[in-house]
Amino acid sequence: MNRDHTCGELRKTDVGKKVRLAGWVAKRRNLGSIVFIDLRDRYGITQITFDEAHSQLVKDVRNEYVIEVRGVVSLKETANPKLETGEIEVIAEDCKILSSAKTTPMIIADETDALEDLRLKYRYLDIRRNPIKDKLIMRDKVATIVRRVLHEDDFIEVETPILSKSTPEGARDYLVPSRLYKGKFYALPQSPQQYKQLLMIGGMDRYFQIARCFRDEDLRADRQPEFTQIDMEMSFADEEDIFAEVEKVMKAIFKEIKGVDDLSFPRVKYVDAMDKYGSDKPDLRFDNPMCNVTELFRNSAFSVFSNCVAEGGVIKALVFHNATDKLSRKKFDELNEFVKIYKAKGLAYLKYDNGEFTGSVNNALPAEEKKALSEQLKLNSGDVVLMVADKKNIAETALGAIRKKLGEELGLIDKDKFSFVWITEFPMYEYSEEEGRWVSAHHPFTAPRDEDVDKLTTDQANCYSRAYDLVLNGYELLSGSVRIHDSQMQAKVFDALGLSKEQIKNKFGFFIEAFEYGAPPHCGVGIGIERLVMILSGTDNIKDVVAFPKTASAYCLMSDAPNTVDQDQLDFLSLQIKKD
Ligand code: ASP
Repeated sequence: MNRDHTCGELRKTDVGKKVRLAGWVAKRRNLGSIVFIDLRDRYGITQITFDEAHSQLVKDVRNEYVIEVRGVVSLKETANPKLETGEIEVIAEDCKILSSAKTTPMIIADETDALEDLRLKYRYLDIRRNPIKDKLIMRDKVATIVRRVLHEDDFIEVETPILSKSTPEGARDYLVPSRLYKGKFYALPQSPQQYKQLLMIGGMDRYFQIARCFRDEDLRADRQPEFTQIDMEMSFADEEDIFAEVEKVMKAIFKEIKGVDDLSFPRVKYVDAMDKYGSDKPDLRFDNPMCNVTELFRNSAFSVFSNCVAEGGVIKALVFHNATDKLSRKKFDELNEFVKIYKAKGLAYLKYDNGEFTGSVNNALPAEEKKALSEQLKLNSGDVVLMVADKKNIAETALGAIRKKLGEELGLIDKDKFSFVWITEFPMYEYSEEEGRWVSAHHPFTAPRDEDVDKLTTDQANCYSRAYDLVLNGYELLSGSVRIHDSQMQAKVFDALGLSKEQIKNKFGFFIEAFEYGAPPHCGVGIGIERLVMILSGTDNIKDVVAFPKTASAYCLMSDAPNTVDQDQLDFLSLQIKKD
């Protein structure tokens, strides 16, 4: 060993000890003939002082050199409160250079002005910085807590294949060509879904895995092509059991990492979440639910509203208190454009001050309708009412997006709060315009609600499932479901999805067969670990919590992956690159 202590370890109580430290030179300062070096490792920084007699030892040492130092711990005259080791320094007696370093292309400090591309190219230097290092350490802590809590409750960790078969999570697969089976491909798992269900059929009872998943999707700010799920599955269990287990894991994580022990886990059905918050991942750090004011305007003199209702649409309203002087005309114009992203035709608004209305629909609405609106919404002076009249799903999502946007901009969100909510009973199917058929909203192994079983193949639009999400501060933290464990029910779902016998056999044959040999009722979840650590560490950039992330275009700037391969390698795989 090059050291007997780390750079974050020594304290006042160690004064007088002879020690050996090793690390990177974070900073070097000369004071006359004395040289001070801040020595850094993962654990912290210790000041090393080379007096006149020893300063020659470090005459060639520059930032980021790796050195080993021997010396004596001594009390500092004035402590440095910024360092945990700030009360002491090590008076050097000897120094060995273990490795020299070129001038680094970026400054290794908490604050850096280096652009993200440069930080990704030299990620190993970026990792030396506390903001990245601390998040990787936090991520490890989360995984450790998960393993401990789940092991306590008899879950066992099982690894499932990476070279596998296409899994139906709805994204594009990453494919790996097979050398031995020409023209055939493995798919990298989008999740270990089928394997974990097969483990239940195999009698493993309670499984978890910190599992790598791969999805070849267009990336967004909070996505990476490869990511990790805390994947769980339980037998002889239903929603109550899996919710309790997940809540236990979350409580342990938030207690140990954030010191928070007053978490609650309310439940909201999908339809109610859409109705009140216009989102299946509502941020409940503030309430502000939407109200349905359709009935008020059924016979409105304002034809935009009454026609909308006559055509089967709805009118949704959202109230922001004490906001009349915070939202300008210009802002309303911006919001009017904003709702168009969600396909809404426009946003109507009213301001209510001292019993008087103003706003975009003030003149169009007769006094008695405004009075009725004021009564239903219990308006107070200073309130702003925003309304969208449109098809139900458009009105809900557009106004839901406004709720989120203005919640943020008007400072309604308590940033110190952790607000969990289970969203339950998701739709069983979604209609894919692209494919012209119903597709699974979660995945095809999700059980329908008992009361919807007879709608499985006949009324897909009104069939709801036993799928659930756990949402935290407006982010979907996990998805999961109670699974189908009856092969006949599974066949019905495939039928509703319009899959032919051939397709079913080819895609899921082995899986379906397994259900013919005794399958326990089971359910599970996949928790996105990156998102969890992002929220815990207060970043909104997923790259911050991944050791070696890819860019938004799925490229690794450090290793230049993906890259071309030798002709030999292609030949082995019988592959030819198409020239276009
Ligand atoms: N495999 C699912 C997902 O990745 C989670 C689950 O149903 O357990 O969303």
